[in-house]
Amino acid sequence: MLKKLFQSFRLPLRRIPHARRTPEILSSRQHSLQRSEISRHAVSVVERLQQAGYEAYVVGGCVRDLLLELNPKDYDVATSATPEQVRAEFRNARVIGRRFKLVHVHFGREIIEVATFRANHPEEDDDDASHLASRNESGRILRDNIYGTLDDDAQRRDFTINALYYDPTSERILDHTHGVHDIRNRLIRLIGDPEQRYQEDPVRMLRAVRFAAKLDFEIERHSAEPIADLADLLDGIPSARLFDETLKLFLGGKAERTFELLLEYDLFAPLFPASAAALERNPEYAGTLIRNALANTDLRIQQGKPVTPAFLFAALLWPALPARVLELQDRGMPPIPAMQEAAHDIIWEQCQRTAIPKRFTIPMREIWDMQERLPRRQGRRADQLLENPRFRAGYDFLLLRESAGEQTHGLGDWWTDYQEASDSERRVMIRNLGSKDDSAPRKRRRSGGRRRRSPGASTPAE
Ligand code: ATP
Ligand code: MG
Repeated sequence: MLKKLFQSFRLPLRRIPHARRTPEILSSRQHSLQRSEISRHAVSVVERLQQAGYEAYVVGGCVRDLLLELNPKDYDVATSATPEQVRAEFRNARVIGRRFKLVHVHFGREIIEVATFRANHPEEDDDDASHLASRNESGRILRDNIYGTLDDDAQRRDFTINALYYDPTSERILDHTHGVHDIRNRLIRLIGDPEQRYQEDPVRMLRAVRFAAKLDFEIERHSAEPIADLADLLDGIPSARLFDETLKLFLGGKAERTFELLLEYDLFAPLFPASAAALERNPEYAGTLIRNALANTDLRIQQGKPVTPAFLFAALLWPALPARVLELQDRGMPPIPAMQEAAHDIIWEQCQRTAIPKRFTIPMREIWDMQERLPRRQGRRADQLLENPRFRAGYDFLLLRESAGEQTHGLGDWWTDYQEASDSERRVMIRNLGSKDDSAPRKRRRSGGRRRRSPGASTPAE
């Protein structure tokens, strides 16, 4: 009885995000989105579903991006039809996902993702105790597979700007959350109570930062405020998902800005603990190296050049190596094994946070190993290195280290010249190396004994 009474006070408050509200409807004259801008495949999927009697809209990031005159990455459709009903309408459709089913409708290389309207999970104190298991103790949603109405679907989305529905038939936009207002004011605003929405899914904190960087938006004050306090909730997110998110954060063309925001909101440390510690120890060197790597990545993306996550992760983690190498050497390990073990440990630990697949950790190690080998150029070594498929990445990485102030005795310039030199010039360059070449270990010259920890010229300065 008491509980009922208590609930009756709480219900209206707790239910606000779920309350049915009529959306604001913007006619084609009230918004800038043109039907002709939308992928014709997305339009045809929506029309087909509507003709079959279902509700269907183009939704999410593509509507947001088109209103901002950006190029959408892909198109999503939301519908009242169940996945099976969707599949029945299209020959080129496949149901994917076990936990939450989606339908992929294939048109050559374009895939239109069709999702059935979903509802937010009921609150823990909801009458139906069977829902209890769907959240963990910090409020994180573990299951998210309840179908709902269009309004439910809008309310369960993350940000207001991501919850706009476009109907290509009427050319109207349905706005349940004042998303158009926030687009105009360039604001990232969570739908509902920010703290609760971050607790339900802490990855939304990363998404807030990602969209702020990508769109050059502000995170609205109430949505920004809880982030630093809740950042540690990311520890509970599966490492495979965090790896995917990390790629989106750093390969979206705005990596440098994203990095600044991650630092500002204390979100970098939960993703890259070892790198964050290195940044604290040596902000100048680590900060420059990481920022330069991210700026290069952004530039390459802008120029349409390929970027590899291996290079990116190699750069993000490199500043964490020296402290670890030192530690191992202090325990009596010789420099080269210490370097190898430190590299292994740091990658292994990082994989606990962001599960970097082997196809990237292997080239990461190769890029790092290459740093050991680049100084050793005597005899045929330089030519052998040039033929190594990882040479280019290793050389670029060397230049990156130099750009952050690492002393390599002109190694980068030497390799730049070597690549451009003729055969005979190369022979002269090798001959001129003399005792400067680190390939003669006994003759290796170091500026003072201070560098005992450095195996080759490769370990970054601390
Ligand atoms: P992008 O340009 O990165 O693809 P997007 O907005 O399309 O941006 P997606 O990750 O493709 O982002 O997700 C599609 C839509 O699904 C989002 O616009 C949002 O409405 C919803 N969504 C995605 N992730 C979440 C989440 N964690 N919580 C709530 N809603 C989400
Ligand atoms: Mg998308």
